[in-house]
Amino acid sequence: MEQTLVILKPSCVLRGLIGEVIGRIEKRGIIITAMKMMQLDEKILREHYAHLVDKPFFPDLCASMMATPVICMVLKGIDIVSVFRTMVGATNGRKAAPGTLRGDLCMSGQANIVHASDSPENAIIEINRFFKPEELTDYVPSDLSFLYANDELNP
Ligand code: UDP
Ligand code: MG
Repeated sequence: MEQTLVILKPSCVLRGLIGEVIGRIEKRGIIITAMKMMQLDEKILREHYAHLVDKPFFPDLCASMMATPVICMVLKGIDIVSVFRTMVGATNGRKAAPGTLRGDLCMSGQANIVHASDSPENAIIEINRFFKPEELTDYVPSDLSFLYANDELNP
């Protein structure tokens, strides 16, 4: 089953939204297979945001991502990368649709509370960037029949 890397950013931690976001993930029927708190540094952020290092806002983005420890999670589910990106909403919280995490919980294009991988290929790279192999689990509930139909689980 597909996995994705999620980061609850300092804007989520500082605003007391950790429980709200994790609660929505659980209620959706998404499986959490790994989770930890960690302090990011500029080295990992330059890798993680390599597509943005030349942008004028990059120093501020780095500072905002290092303001507190973050919570890194691995989520598992069918089509989880696209499902969770849809749940997260547009990058700018002011433009994100109501019902999405960003559209309901933030007003910023930078302090937008959540990171989510944008493709299955990047998800694998990002999971390995933020987690050591021994921190990952293969956990899946023993009975998935309340989450998915048989033909979804065994196409
Ligand atoms: N960001 C920013 N200003 C911008 C665009 C992006 O500060 O104009 C920050 C924002 O926190 C965003 C992160 O850089 O979440 C990564 O940008 P990306 O375009 O990958 O957006 P995302 O995938 O997070 O929606
Ligand atoms: Mg992105």
